[in-house]
Amino acid sequence: MLGSHVGLGGKEQFLGSVKEALLYGADTFMVYTGAPQNTRRKDVSEMRIPEAQELMKQSGITEFVVHAPYIINLGNTVKPESFAFSVEFLQEELRRTQAMGSRTLVLHPGAHVGEGEDAGIMQIIRGINETLAADTEVRIALEMMAGKGSELGTNFAQMARIYDGVVHNNKLRLCLDTCHLNDAGYDVKGDFEGVLAEMERYFPLNQVACIHLNDSKNERGAAKDRHENIGYGTIGFDRLYAITKMPEFANTPIILETPYVSEVEGGKDRTLAPYREEIAMLRKGVFNRELWKTIVANR
Ligand code: FE
Ligand code: FE
Ligand code: ZN
Repeated sequence: MLGSHVGLGGKEQFLGSVKEALLYGADTFMVYTGAPQNTRRKDVSEMRIPEAQELMKQSGITEFVVHAPYIINLGNTVKPESFAFSVEFLQEELRRTQAMGSRTLVLHPGAHVGEGEDAGIMQIIRGINETLAADTEVRIALEMMAGKGSELGTNFAQMARIYDGVVHNNKLRLCLDTCHLNDAGYDVKGDFEGVLAEMERYFPLNQVACIHLNDSKNERGAAKDRHENIGYGTIGFDRLYAITKMPEFANTPIILETPYVSEVEGGKDRTLAPYREEIAMLRKGVFNRELWKTIVANR
């Protein structure tokens, strides 16, 4: 399954998200329940969910994932009010994810904001334990992070520590972001099989519920987290294409979060989504060296 993140907003709401995914030729997608940077959210009754579900049914989209907003930080031990807010908001996100019809909510595990790895991980465990109940149907997919700032979840050992502390850890999954793995130091380009083998020391392959397919602007281990268009970064087209062809991930949503491009060459205001062209390129298996020109020409 191949798709990208899509917007949600305006009059069309979630129906618009599905339409956007179809425009890109995607058969899956990822959506934020509102702006990723804030927590203003519409009531699910206003999100046009039944129409969106009908359109998905008609067009054969059987799975999509939801991404929690960045401002949730379960790792915060410094400000109790911000931790409490994060827990409460995460609980609401799980309810919204369920109402929209997805079984997977992608979450950045959290950042320790200076208090150190141990304190941060303990707090993340506490937060997830306050969120997941025995009857929760949605799974939380913890995203592997690049390691910028004090981000946690930058290696599989840390993720395993989180799993170990979570009571209902049968409801946890992993989200592998190729840019983040690269920036965290994993050799995605040269030895992705080795990266998966490292993961399998802690987790079976079936724990991967989502893949974020991004190239990276930075060298391996840079701890930076800057996504690049497919084939234009340090990971390169061949590896990213190969991941989309892995039989192990044939039923896993593979989601592009690559940057928008400008209408003018090298321009700063990036208004054009690259996903239709990137998805086409990945389906064909041939690197388009003129991706930007193709995107502009298709508008
Ligand atoms: Fe993410
Ligand atoms: Fe990601
Ligand atoms: Zn990222």
